[in-house]
Amino acid sequence: MAYDFDLFVIGGGSGGVRCARIAATHGATVGIAEERFWGGTCVNVGCVPKKIMVNAAEYGQWTEDAAAFGWNVERKGFDLAALAAARDAEVARLNGIYGRLLTGAGCTIFEARATFLDAHTLDVGGKRVTAERIVIAVGGRAVPPPIPGAELGMLSDDVFRLKQVPRRLIVVGSGYIGLEFACIFRGLGAEVDLVYRADLPLRGFDADIRTALKEALDAQGLRQHVGHHPARLDRQGDHLRLSLLGGEAIEADAVLFATGREPHIQGLGLDRAGVMCTAKGAVEVDEEHRTTAPNIYAIGDVTDKLNLTPMATAVGHALADTLFGGTPRKADYHNVPTAVFTSPPIGTVGMTEADAAAQGPVDIYLTRFTPMRHTISGRPGRKTLMKLVVCQRTRKVLGAHMLGEDAAEIMQGIGIAVAAGLTKEDFDRTIGIHPTAAEEFVTLRTRTREAGVRAAAE
Ligand code: NDP
Repeated sequence: MAYDFDLFVIGGGSGGVRCARIAATHGATVGIAEERFWGGTCVNVGCVPKKIMVNAAEYGQWTEDAAAFGWNVERKGFDLAALAAARDAEVARLNGIYGRLLTGAGCTIFEARATFLDAHTLDVGGKRVTAERIVIAVGGRAVPPPIPGAELGMLSDDVFRLKQVPRRLIVVGSGYIGLEFACIFRGLGAEVDLVYRADLPLRGFDADIRTALKEALDAQGLRQHVGHHPARLDRQGDHLRLSLLGGEAIEADAVLFATGREPHIQGLGLDRAGVMCTAKGAVEVDEEHRTTAPNIYAIGDVTDKLNLTPMATAVGHALADTLFGGTPRKADYHNVPTAVFTSPPIGTVGMTEADAAAQGPVDIYLTRFTPMRHTISGRPGRKTLMKLVVCQRTRKVLGAHMLGEDAAEIMQGIGIAVAAGLTKEDFDRTIGIHPTAAEEFVTLRTRTREAGVRAAAE
């Protein structure tokens, strides 16, 4: 049977766009539908506009620190409208680029919602479209916590619509999104209360990084409500009141719920196509990213595997190469470097000390120092922490973790070394670039401690 397209991609975010574009360059006829904005969450209400706001917050610190370096800088306040205009213009520019990438590669684009009628047929904005293969790349969406009054709070998308910086902001959740926005708004001058359930922020990251982050947040005057669960949110006159389980309450002008995201599958008609979901509502896929329907695949956040833009892009590219390029391959989910754009930022790749120690004995190399910029600026709490987790048996560097200025930039390079399986001796042989913070990663000579010995003996 002849189909309208060899491939139809539902969702024009990072993963979907890459998959469609590469499939088209391999000669496939490709259709792609996007109902909201080309580039998806990352370009429009995620990584890109967020990073511009991170930069804005950092400029505030640089101007404060400038006096220590001899500059006579007068700060006259911050104008969110000016930042928003620059930010939104950049997002619009990228939107255009994404659209042109697709049409330039020969894809047919639909600015419409696509839903399944059956495993090969879609309703795309009221038009019936068939495809031999279909890729679901619809991403995720932020969800509020299930508490009364949650609708009074913001979700991450709403942050980009703010007209002014709230004087007092409560952030609930200490994952990537909560921490990044807590630091951004603190940097832009807001009083920030951060509420989280665990004893340390950023669950799942290395414990030393989490501890150092908590101290760094304290040092910038961010109030942390540790081990607290939100109970309800109420409007009281012109402000909001967040009640916590246990009785405490916090007042603010705005509340941001950053309590996680969920796969965006509502109304897609997956059941009509025979596509099953996991208990957590993600589209179920095998190692090849094939769903329970043999001609349908799913990539990116809708699969809830490793919800990072570059991962979705890599998976989309590999899938297009596999299906249409004659080069079957899989994107590797191991040793994926990642960054959290807190203040200071975090960069990490590979295993945490706890995870590595659970598998066998490891040597830990750790250093903590005040970077040169802050020995001069005197800004409190701007210590850098760098850590290597090394397998005692193979000497391979299993994990690298950093909190400090430029951590994201530095970790991209270290990520190559860790993914390549290089040893501590390979790191030691590398000549440092002086004077940088990064050189510490190749000059760490003294073992701080060993861990996991008992696990190996058992
Ligand atoms: P995360 O899963 O990272 O964090 C969710 C946070 O909300 C956790 O602190 C969690 O607490 C808390 N939480 C969950 N449910 C509740 C509840 N009912 N009440 C109170 N607290 C709750 O999600 P994010 O939304 O921050 O980020 C989503 C994903 O987006 C990330 O996993 C990441 O992959 C991606 N992302 C990546 C970025 C980057 O690369 N820099 C930036 C932003 C997002 P607890 O820890 O106790 O479970």
